[in-house]
Amino acid sequence: MSSVIPPLEKVLIANRGEIALRVLRACKEMGIKTIAVHSVPDRDLMHVKMADEAVCIGSAHSSESYLNVPAIISAAEVTNATAIHPGYGFLAENADFAEQTENSGFKFIGPTAKTIRLMGDKVSAINAMKKAGVPTVPGSDGPLSDNLDLTLDIAKKIGFPVIIKASAGGGGRGMRVVHNEAALKNAISMTKKEAHAAFGSDVVYLEKFLQKPRHIEIQVIADGMGNAIHLGDRDCSLQRRHQKILEEAPALGIDSKLREEVSSACVNACLKMNYRGAGTFEFLYEDGGFYFIEMNTRIQVEHPVTEEITGFDIVKEQLKIAGGAVLSAKQKDIKFTGHAFECRINAEDSRTFLPSPGKIESFHPPGGPGIRVDSHLYDGYTVPPFYDSLVAKIIAHGESRENALGRLTQALDELIIEGIRTNTSLHRELVKDQAFREGGVSIHYLESKLED
Ligand code: ADP
Repeated sequence: MSSVIPPLEKVLIANRGEIALRVLRACKEMGIKTIAVHSVPDRDLMHVKMADEAVCIGSAHSSESYLNVPAIISAAEVTNATAIHPGYGFLAENADFAEQTENSGFKFIGPTAKTIRLMGDKVSAINAMKKAGVPTVPGSDGPLSDNLDLTLDIAKKIGFPVIIKASAGGGGRGMRVVHNEAALKNAISMTKKEAHAAFGSDVVYLEKFLQKPRHIEIQVIADGMGNAIHLGDRDCSLQRRHQKILEEAPALGIDSKLREEVSSACVNACLKMNYRGAGTFEFLYEDGGFYFIEMNTRIQVEHPVTEEITGFDIVKEQLKIAGGAVLSAKQKDIKFTGHAFECRINAEDSRTFLPSPGKIESFHPPGGPGIRVDSHLYDGYTVPPFYDSLVAKIIAHGESRENALGRLTQALDELIIEGIRTNTSLHRELVKDQAFREGGVSIHYLESKLED
Protein backbone atom coordinates (compact mmCIF):
# COMPACT_ATOMS: atom_id res chain seq x y z
CA MET A 1 0.00 0.00 0.00
CA SER A 2 1.38 3.45 -0.88
CA SER A 3 1.30 6.32 1.58
CA VAL A 4 0.74 9.36 -0.60
CA ILE A 5 0.22 12.57 1.38
CA PRO A 6 -2.97 14.10 0.02
CA PRO A 7 -2.83 17.67 -1.23
CA LEU A 8 -6.29 18.35 0.21
CA GLU A 9 -5.88 21.06 2.81
CA LYS A 10 -9.34 22.04 3.86
CA VAL A 11 -12.57 20.15 3.34
CA LEU A 12 -16.04 21.66 3.57
CA ILE A 13 -18.56 19.09 4.77
CA ALA A 14 -21.88 19.77 3.03
CA ASN A 15 -23.99 17.57 5.28
CA ARG A 16 -25.12 17.02 8.87
CA GLY A 17 -25.56 14.34 11.54
CA GLU A 18 -23.58 11.14 11.79
CA ILE A 19 -22.11 11.26 8.27
CA ALA A 20 -20.78 14.80 8.74
CA LEU A 21 -19.06 13.57 11.90
CA ARG A 22 -17.73 10.48 10.09
CA VAL A 23 -16.18 12.69 7.38
CA LEU A 24 -14.80 15.13 9.96
CA ARG A 25 -13.10 12.27 11.85
CA ALA A 26 -11.46 11.00 8.65
CA CYS A 27 -10.22 14.54 7.84
CA LYS A 28 -8.82 15.07 11.35
CA GLU A 29 -7.05 11.74 11.21
CA MET A 30 -5.39 12.80 7.97
CA GLY A 31 -4.47 16.30 9.17
CA ILE A 32 -6.99 17.98 6.87
CA LYS A 33 -8.71 21.14 8.15
CA THR A 34 -12.51 21.04 8.27
CA ILE A 35 -15.35 23.46 7.66
CA ALA A 36 -18.84 22.63 8.90
CA VAL A 37 -21.81 24.29 7.21
CA HIS A 38 -25.07 24.09 9.08
CA SER A 39 -28.64 25.35 9.30
CA VAL A 40 -29.80 27.60 12.15
CA PRO A 41 -31.23 24.77 14.32
CA ASP A 42 -28.13 22.64 13.70
CA ARG A 43 -25.62 24.91 15.41
CA ASP A 44 -25.18 22.43 18.28
CA LEU A 45 -24.37 19.42 16.11
CA MET A 46 -21.32 17.54 17.35
CA HIS A 47 -19.26 18.03 14.17
CA VAL A 48 -20.06 21.76 14.09
CA LYS A 49 -18.43 22.11 17.50
CA MET A 50 -15.43 20.02 16.44
CA ALA A 51 -14.76 21.60 13.03
CA ASP A 52 -11.98 24.15 12.55
CA GLU A 53 -14.51 26.59 11.12
CA ALA A 54 -18.30 26.66 11.00
CA VAL A 55 -20.61 28.66 8.74
CA CYS A 56 -24.35 29.00 9.18
CA ILE A 57 -25.80 28.75 5.66
CA GLY A 58 -29.53 29.20 6.21
CA SER A 59 -32.72 28.34 7.98
CA ALA A 60 -34.09 24.95 9.05
CA HIS A 61 -35.65 24.18 5.66
CA SER A 62 -33.19 22.01 3.66
CA SER A 63 -33.99 24.03 0.54
CA GLU A 64 -32.56 27.08 2.28
CA SER A 65 -29.53 25.37 3.81
CA TYR A 66 -28.28 21.87 2.91
CA LEU A 67 -29.76 22.10 -0.61
CA ASN A 68 -28.82 25.75 -1.08
CA VAL A 69 -26.01 25.52 -3.66
CA PRO A 70 -25.06 29.25 -3.79
CA ALA A 71 -24.85 29.39 0.03
CA ILE A 72 -22.60 26.31 0.17
CA ILE A 73 -20.32 27.54 -2.62
CA SER A 74 -20.09 30.99 -0.93
CA ALA A 75 -19.16 29.30 2.35
CA ALA A 76 -16.41 27.41 0.52
CA GLU A 77 -15.17 30.69 -0.97
CA VAL A 78 -15.07 32.70 2.24
CA THR A 79 -13.32 29.90 4.14
CA ASN A 80 -10.84 29.05 1.36
CA ALA A 81 -11.90 25.43 1.15
CA THR A 82 -10.02 23.04 -1.15
CA ALA A 83 -12.76 20.47 -1.58
CA ILE A 84 -16.38 19.67 -0.72
CA HIS A 85 -17.57 16.34 0.68
CA PRO A 86 -21.32 15.93 0.05
CA GLY A 87 -21.94 12.92 2.36
CA TYR A 88 -25.13 11.05 1.37
CA GLY A 89 -28.60 12.44 0.64
CA PHE A 90 -29.02 16.20 0.09
CA LEU A 91 -26.73 17.19 -2.85
CA ALA A 92 -24.60 14.03 -2.95
CA GLU A 93 -25.99 12.82 -6.29
CA ASN A 94 -26.79 16.19 -7.79
CA ALA A 95 -24.72 16.52 -10.97
CA ASP A 96 -25.30 20.29 -11.19
CA PHE A 97 -23.87 20.73 -7.69
CA ALA A 98 -20.80 18.64 -8.56
CA GLU A 99 -20.34 20.74 -11.69
CA GLN A 100 -20.71 24.07 -9.89
CA THR A 101 -18.33 22.93 -7.18
CA GLU A 102 -15.63 22.14 -9.70
CA ASN A 103 -16.35 25.21 -11.85
CA SER A 104 -15.91 27.35 -8.74
CA GLY A 105 -12.43 25.91 -8.23
CA PHE A 106 -13.12 23.30 -5.53
CA LYS A 107 -12.70 19.57 -5.75
CA PHE A 108 -15.90 17.56 -5.54
CA ILE A 109 -15.32 14.47 -3.40
CA GLY A 110 -17.12 12.05 -5.65
CA PRO A 111 -17.38 11.20 -9.35
CA THR A 112 -17.50 13.74 -12.18
CA ALA A 113 -20.81 15.47 -12.96
CA LYS A 114 -20.90 13.49 -16.21
CA THR A 115 -20.78 10.15 -14.37
CA ILE A 116 -23.41 11.26 -11.84
CA ARG A 117 -25.67 12.23 -14.73
CA LEU A 118 -25.10 8.95 -16.55
CA MET A 119 -25.94 6.88 -13.45
CA GLY A 120 -28.80 9.19 -12.37
CA ASP A 121 -30.70 8.27 -15.50
CA LYS A 122 -31.75 4.65 -15.04
CA VAL A 123 -32.05 3.79 -18.72
CA SER A 124 -28.55 5.08 -19.49
CA ALA A 125 -27.18 3.39 -16.35
CA ILE A 126 -28.67 0.02 -17.38
CA ASN A 127 -27.22 0.40 -20.88
CA ALA A 128 -23.77 1.17 -19.47
CA MET A 129 -24.03 -1.92 -17.25
CA LYS A 130 -25.03 -4.18 -20.10
CA LYS A 131 -22.00 -3.04 -22.08
CA ALA A 132 -19.74 -3.84 -19.13
CA GLY A 133 -21.22 -7.31 -18.62
CA VAL A 134 -23.11 -6.48 -15.40
CA PRO A 135 -26.31 -8.60 -15.24
CA THR A 136 -29.52 -6.54 -15.48
CA VAL A 137 -33.25 -7.27 -15.09
CA PRO A 138 -34.89 -8.62 -18.29
CA GLY A 139 -36.83 -5.68 -19.69
CA SER A 140 -37.47 -3.21 -22.48
CA ASP A 141 -33.77 -2.30 -22.76
CA GLY A 142 -34.64 1.33 -23.26
CA PRO A 143 -37.49 3.84 -23.04
CA LEU A 144 -41.00 2.61 -23.91
CA SER A 145 -42.29 3.94 -27.22
CA ASP A 146 -45.85 5.14 -27.79
CA ASN A 147 -46.60 1.88 -29.57
CA LEU A 148 -48.58 -0.12 -27.00
CA ASP A 149 -48.55 -3.30 -29.10
CA LEU A 150 -44.77 -3.30 -29.08
CA THR A 151 -44.70 -2.85 -25.30
CA LEU A 152 -47.27 -5.59 -24.87
CA ASP A 153 -45.09 -7.94 -26.92
CA ILE A 154 -42.14 -7.20 -24.64
CA ALA A 155 -44.24 -7.72 -21.51
CA LYS A 156 -45.63 -11.03 -22.78
CA LYS A 157 -42.19 -12.26 -23.72
CA ILE A 158 -40.84 -11.43 -20.24
CA GLY A 159 -44.00 -12.63 -18.52
CA PHE A 160 -46.24 -10.81 -16.04
CA PRO A 161 -45.92 -9.31 -13.49
CA VAL A 162 -43.77 -6.49 -14.87
CA ILE A 163 -42.85 -3.12 -13.38
CA ILE A 164 -42.99 0.26 -15.14
CA LYS A 165 -40.25 2.58 -13.87
CA ALA A 166 -39.39 6.22 -14.46
CA SER A 167 -35.91 6.62 -15.91
CA ALA A 168 -35.36 9.73 -13.77
CA GLY A 169 -37.01 8.17 -10.68
CA GLY A 170 -35.52 7.95 -7.22
CA GLY A 171 -36.33 7.38 -3.57
CA GLY A 172 -38.64 4.49 -4.39
CA ARG A 173 -41.00 6.75 -6.34
CA GLY A 174 -42.09 6.59 -9.97
CA MET A 175 -42.78 2.89 -10.38
CA ARG A 176 -45.82 0.71 -10.80
CA VAL A 177 -46.30 -3.06 -10.84
CA VAL A 178 -48.51 -4.48 -13.60
CA HIS A 179 -50.03 -7.92 -13.11
CA ASN A 180 -51.80 -8.47 -16.42
CA GLU A 181 -52.27 -7.32 -19.98
CA ALA A 182 -55.43 -5.35 -19.24
CA ALA A 183 -53.72 -3.10 -16.71
CA LEU A 184 -50.68 -2.25 -18.86
CA LYS A 185 -51.91 0.76 -20.82
CA ASN A 186 -53.24 2.59 -17.81
CA ALA A 187 -50.14 1.83 -15.73
CA ILE A 188 -47.86 3.30 -18.39
CA SER A 189 -49.82 6.53 -18.72
CA MET A 190 -50.12 6.93 -14.94
CA THR A 191 -46.40 6.38 -14.37
CA LYS A 192 -45.55 8.77 -17.22
CA LYS A 193 -47.75 11.48 -15.71
CA GLU A 194 -46.32 11.01 -12.23
CA ALA A 195 -42.76 10.92 -13.53
CA HIS A 196 -43.28 14.13 -15.47
CA ALA A 197 -44.68 15.90 -12.41
CA ALA A 198 -42.08 14.57 -9.96
CA PHE A 199 -38.90 14.42 -12.05
CA GLY A 200 -39.58 16.63 -15.08
CA SER A 201 -39.22 13.71 -17.50
CA ASP A 202 -41.85 11.23 -18.63
CA VAL A 203 -39.38 8.64 -19.92
CA VAL A 204 -40.38 5.22 -18.55
CA TYR A 205 -39.13 1.68 -19.12
CA LEU A 206 -40.29 -1.81 -18.31
CA GLU A 207 -38.69 -4.59 -16.26
CA LYS A 208 -39.63 -8.02 -15.02
CA PHE A 209 -41.04 -7.69 -11.51
CA LEU A 210 -39.10 -9.98 -9.21
CA GLN A 211 -41.39 -11.36 -6.54
CA LYS A 212 -39.18 -12.35 -3.61
CA PRO A 213 -35.76 -10.83 -4.18
CA ARG A 214 -33.04 -9.97 -1.70
CA HIS A 215 -31.27 -6.60 -1.92
CA ILE A 216 -27.56 -7.24 -2.39
CA GLU A 217 -25.08 -4.52 -3.27
CA ILE A 218 -21.43 -4.36 -4.19
CA GLN A 219 -19.11 -1.62 -2.89
CA VAL A 220 -16.50 -0.30 -5.29
CA ILE A 221 -13.84 2.37 -5.17
CA ALA A 222 -11.85 3.76 -8.08
CA ASP A 223 -9.41 6.59 -8.71
CA GLY A 224 -10.50 7.74 -12.18
CA MET A 225 -6.97 6.98 -13.35
CA GLY A 226 -7.36 3.40 -14.46
CA ASN A 227 -7.58 1.68 -11.08
CA ALA A 228 -10.70 0.19 -9.53
CA ILE A 229 -11.41 -2.48 -6.90
CA HIS A 230 -14.46 -3.94 -5.17
CA LEU A 231 -14.81 -4.31 -1.42
CA GLY A 232 -17.30 -7.14 -1.43
CA ASP A 233 -21.05 -7.23 -0.94
CA ARG A 234 -23.69 -6.32 1.62
CA ASP A 235 -27.18 -7.69 2.17
CA CYS A 236 -29.64 -4.87 2.87
CA SER A 237 -32.88 -6.78 2.50
CA LEU A 238 -34.35 -5.74 5.84
CA GLN A 239 -36.30 -2.70 4.69
CA ARG A 240 -39.46 -0.83 5.49
CA ARG A 241 -40.94 1.37 2.76
CA HIS A 242 -37.70 0.99 0.78
CA GLN A 243 -35.72 2.29 3.75
CA LYS A 244 -32.94 -0.01 4.91
CA ILE A 245 -33.07 -0.86 8.62
CA LEU A 246 -30.41 -3.50 9.28
CA GLU A 247 -27.54 -4.46 6.98
CA GLU A 248 -24.83 -7.10 6.96
CA ALA A 249 -21.67 -8.03 5.12
CA PRO A 250 -20.98 -10.34 3.44
CA ALA A 251 -24.31 -11.52 1.98
CA LEU A 252 -25.06 -15.11 3.00
CA GLY A 253 -25.24 -18.08 0.71
CA ILE A 254 -23.88 -16.60 -2.53
CA ASP A 255 -22.05 -18.99 -4.80
CA SER A 256 -18.39 -17.96 -4.73
CA LYS A 257 -17.91 -18.20 -8.50
CA LEU A 258 -21.01 -16.07 -9.15
CA ARG A 259 -19.89 -13.55 -6.51
CA GLU A 260 -16.51 -13.28 -8.20
CA GLU A 261 -18.08 -12.86 -11.65
CA VAL A 262 -20.50 -10.11 -10.61
CA SER A 263 -17.91 -8.23 -8.53
CA SER A 264 -15.46 -8.33 -11.43
CA ALA A 265 -18.16 -7.05 -13.80
CA CYS A 266 -18.74 -4.09 -11.43
CA VAL A 267 -15.02 -3.31 -11.41
CA ASN A 268 -15.03 -3.58 -15.19
CA ALA A 269 -17.95 -1.12 -15.37
CA CYS A 270 -15.98 1.34 -13.21
CA LEU A 271 -12.98 1.09 -15.49
CA LYS A 272 -15.13 1.52 -18.60
CA MET A 273 -16.73 4.73 -17.33
CA ASN A 274 -13.48 5.91 -15.73
CA TYR A 275 -15.27 6.02 -12.38
CA ARG A 276 -13.76 8.15 -9.61
CA GLY A 277 -14.50 7.70 -5.90
CA ALA A 278 -16.68 5.37 -3.86
CA GLY A 279 -19.77 3.82 -5.40
CA THR A 280 -22.31 1.06 -4.93
CA PHE A 281 -23.91 -1.24 -7.47
CA GLU A 282 -27.35 -2.23 -6.19
CA PHE A 283 -28.82 -5.55 -7.24
CA LEU A 284 -31.93 -7.57 -6.66
CA TYR A 285 -30.95 -11.21 -6.11
CA GLU A 286 -33.40 -14.03 -6.75
CA ASP A 287 -33.03 -17.76 -7.40
CA GLY A 288 -29.27 -17.55 -7.71
CA GLY A 289 -29.27 -14.59 -10.13
CA PHE A 290 -28.08 -10.98 -9.73
CA TYR A 291 -30.09 -8.21 -11.42
CA PHE A 292 -28.67 -4.66 -11.45
CA ILE A 293 -31.18 -1.97 -10.49
CA GLU A 294 -29.11 1.15 -9.90
CA MET A 295 -25.76 2.64 -8.98
CA ASN A 296 -25.29 5.05 -6.08
CA THR A 297 -22.45 7.44 -6.84
CA ARG A 298 -21.66 8.35 -3.24
CA ILE A 299 -20.77 7.01 0.20
CA GLN A 300 -23.64 5.02 1.67
CA VAL A 301 -25.09 4.89 5.18
CA GLU A 302 -24.15 1.22 5.47
CA HIS A 303 -20.48 1.60 4.42
CA PRO A 304 -19.18 0.68 7.93
CA VAL A 305 -20.06 -3.03 7.60
CA THR A 306 -17.75 -3.19 4.60
CA GLU A 307 -15.04 -1.28 6.46
CA GLU A 308 -15.30 -3.76 9.33
CA ILE A 309 -14.85 -6.88 7.20
CA THR A 310 -12.08 -5.40 5.03
CA GLY A 311 -10.26 -3.04 7.40
CA PHE A 312 -10.36 -0.57 4.51
CA ASP A 313 -11.33 3.02 5.40
CA ILE A 314 -13.60 4.08 2.54
CA VAL A 315 -13.98 7.73 3.61
CA LYS A 316 -10.24 8.26 3.97
CA GLU A 317 -9.77 6.72 0.56
CA GLN A 318 -12.36 9.11 -0.89
CA LEU A 319 -10.30 12.00 0.48
CA LYS A 320 -7.03 10.60 -0.87
CA ILE A 321 -8.53 10.08 -4.33
CA ALA A 322 -9.99 13.60 -4.40
CA GLY A 323 -6.50 14.80 -3.51
CA GLY A 324 -5.16 13.16 -6.65
CA ALA A 325 -3.68 9.97 -5.19
CA VAL A 326 -3.88 6.68 -7.00
CA LEU A 327 -5.92 3.95 -5.32
CA SER A 328 -3.94 2.78 -2.29
CA ALA A 329 -4.83 -0.89 -2.62
CA LYS A 330 -4.97 -3.51 -5.33
CA GLN A 331 -7.68 -6.16 -5.41
CA LYS A 332 -5.30 -8.77 -4.03
CA ASP A 333 -4.63 -6.55 -0.96
CA ILE A 334 -8.29 -6.73 0.07
CA LYS A 335 -8.89 -9.53 2.56
CA PHE A 336 -12.33 -10.30 3.91
CA THR A 337 -12.43 -11.15 7.60
CA GLY A 338 -15.48 -12.32 9.51
CA HIS A 339 -18.95 -10.83 9.45
CA ALA A 340 -20.48 -7.45 10.32
CA PHE A 341 -23.95 -6.02 11.02
CA GLU A 342 -25.28 -2.48 11.24
CA CYS A 343 -28.49 -1.42 12.99
CA ARG A 344 -29.87 1.98 12.04
CA ILE A 345 -31.22 3.60 15.18
CA ASN A 346 -33.87 6.14 14.23
CA ALA A 347 -35.59 8.77 16.34
CA GLU A 348 -39.01 7.26 15.81
CA ASP A 349 -41.58 5.17 17.63
CA SER A 350 -40.76 1.48 17.16
CA ARG A 351 -44.39 0.50 16.51
CA THR A 352 -45.98 3.49 14.76
CA PHE A 353 -42.76 4.73 13.10
CA LEU A 354 -43.81 8.31 13.82
CA PRO A 355 -40.81 10.64 14.16
CA SER A 356 -39.78 11.42 17.71
CA PRO A 357 -37.52 14.48 17.81
CA GLY A 358 -36.56 16.08 21.12
CA LYS A 359 -33.93 16.51 23.77
CA ILE A 360 -31.59 13.63 24.62
CA GLU A 361 -31.69 13.27 28.39
CA SER A 362 -29.15 10.48 28.44
CA PHE A 363 -27.05 8.70 25.81
CA HIS A 364 -25.03 5.64 26.67
CA PRO A 365 -23.46 3.95 23.62
CA PRO A 366 -22.46 0.28 23.85
CA GLY A 367 -18.84 -0.87 23.70
CA GLY A 368 -16.57 -3.88 23.91
CA PRO A 369 -14.71 -5.96 21.32
CA GLY A 370 -15.97 -5.59 17.75
CA ILE A 371 -18.45 -2.79 18.51
CA ARG A 372 -18.45 0.52 16.63
CA VAL A 373 -20.96 3.32 17.16
CA ASP A 374 -21.31 6.07 14.55
CA SER A 375 -23.51 8.71 16.16
CA HIS A 376 -23.66 12.45 16.67
CA LEU A 377 -25.73 12.18 19.86
CA TYR A 378 -24.62 13.50 23.24
CA ASP A 379 -26.39 14.24 26.51
CA GLY A 380 -28.43 17.42 26.20
CA TYR A 381 -28.43 17.47 22.36
CA THR A 382 -31.81 18.17 20.79
CA VAL A 383 -32.79 16.10 17.73
CA PRO A 384 -34.54 18.60 15.42
CA PRO A 385 -37.76 17.62 13.64
CA PHE A 386 -36.63 18.81 10.20
CA TYR A 387 -34.33 16.08 8.92
CA ASP A 388 -33.74 12.36 8.51
CA SER A 389 -34.41 10.48 11.74
CA LEU A 390 -31.16 8.45 11.79
CA VAL A 391 -29.40 9.19 15.10
CA ALA A 392 -26.97 6.27 15.55
CA LYS A 393 -25.54 3.26 13.78
CA ILE A 394 -24.61 0.30 15.95
CA ILE A 395 -22.07 -1.80 14.10
CA ALA A 396 -20.86 -5.20 15.28
CA HIS A 397 -18.02 -7.23 13.80
CA GLY A 398 -17.08 -10.79 14.69
CA GLU A 399 -15.03 -13.67 13.33
CA SER A 400 -18.23 -15.46 12.30
CA ARG A 401 -21.85 -14.38 11.68
CA GLU A 402 -22.88 -16.02 14.92
CA ASN A 403 -20.15 -14.24 16.84
CA ALA A 404 -21.07 -10.85 15.27
CA LEU A 405 -24.75 -11.47 16.04
CA GLY A 406 -23.92 -12.24 19.68
CA ARG A 407 -21.99 -8.98 19.97
CA LEU A 408 -24.76 -7.06 18.23
CA THR A 409 -27.40 -8.48 20.59
CA GLN A 410 -25.36 -7.46 23.63
CA ALA A 411 -24.65 -4.00 22.13
CA LEU A 412 -28.36 -3.35 21.58
CA ASP A 413 -29.05 -4.40 25.17
CA GLU A 414 -26.45 -1.91 26.42
CA LEU A 415 -27.66 1.01 24.30
CA ILE A 416 -29.47 3.70 26.28
CA ILE A 417 -31.11 6.68 24.59
CA GLU A 418 -33.45 8.58 26.92
CA GLY A 419 -35.60 11.61 26.18
CA ILE A 420 -36.85 10.53 22.74
CA ARG A 421 -38.38 7.35 21.38
CA THR A 422 -36.21 5.19 19.10
CA ASN A 423 -36.58 1.97 17.12
CA THR A 424 -34.08 0.16 19.37
CA SER A 425 -36.71 -2.31 20.58
CA LEU A 426 -37.50 -3.28 16.97
CA HIS A 427 -33.81 -4.10 16.48
CA ARG A 428 -33.74 -6.08 19.74
CA GLU A 429 -36.63 -8.14 18.40
CA LEU A 430 -35.11 -8.54 14.96
CA VAL A 431 -31.81 -9.97 16.19
CA LYS A 432 -33.79 -12.72 17.93
CA ASP A 433 -36.00 -13.41 14.90
CA GLN A 434 -35.64 -17.00 13.70
CA ALA A 435 -35.75 -16.28 9.94
CA PHE A 436 -33.32 -13.38 10.24
CA ARG A 437 -30.94 -15.49 12.31
CA GLU A 438 -31.03 -18.17 9.63
CA GLY A 439 -30.31 -15.46 7.03
CA GLY A 440 -31.25 -14.75 3.42
CA VAL A 441 -34.73 -13.21 3.94
CA SER A 442 -36.33 -11.25 1.08
CA ILE A 443 -36.96 -7.49 0.88
CA HIS A 444 -40.58 -8.12 1.90
CA TYR A 445 -39.77 -10.04 5.08
CA LEU A 446 -39.68 -7.13 7.53
CA GLU A 447 -42.93 -5.57 6.33
CA SER A 448 -44.75 -8.89 6.48
CA LYS A 449 -43.38 -9.51 9.98
CA LEU A 450 -44.56 -6.06 11.08
CA GLU A 451 -48.06 -6.79 9.78
CA ASP A 452 -48.37 -9.90 11.95
P1 ADP B 1 -35.03 4.12 -6.45
O1 ADP B 1 -33.98 4.83 -7.23
O2 ADP B 1 -36.31 4.87 -6.41
O3 ADP B 1 -34.55 3.65 -5.10
P2 ADP B 1 -34.74 1.38 -7.48
O4 ADP B 1 -34.64 1.06 -8.91
O5 ADP B 1 -33.49 1.27 -6.66
O6 ADP B 1 -35.41 2.83 -7.32
O7 ADP B 1 -35.85 0.48 -6.82
C1 ADP B 1 -36.30 0.68 -5.52
C2 ADP B 1 -36.96 -0.57 -4.98
O8 ADP B 1 -38.10 -0.94 -5.77
C3 ADP B 1 -36.08 -1.79 -4.99
O9 ADP B 1 -35.24 -1.85 -3.85
C4 ADP B 1 -37.12 -2.91 -4.99
O10 ADP B 1 -37.66 -3.05 -3.70
C5 ADP B 1 -38.19 -2.35 -5.89
N1 ADP B 1 -37.94 -2.75 -7.29
C6 ADP B 1 -37.36 -2.02 -8.26
N2 ADP B 1 -37.27 -2.72 -9.41
C7 ADP B 1 -37.83 -3.92 -9.17
C8 ADP B 1 -38.04 -5.12 -9.96
N3 ADP B 1 -37.68 -5.19 -11.24
N4 ADP B 1 -38.66 -6.17 -9.35
C9 ADP B 1 -39.03 -6.11 -8.06
N5 ADP B 1 -38.87 -5.04 -7.27
C10 ADP B 1 -38.27 -3.95 -7.81
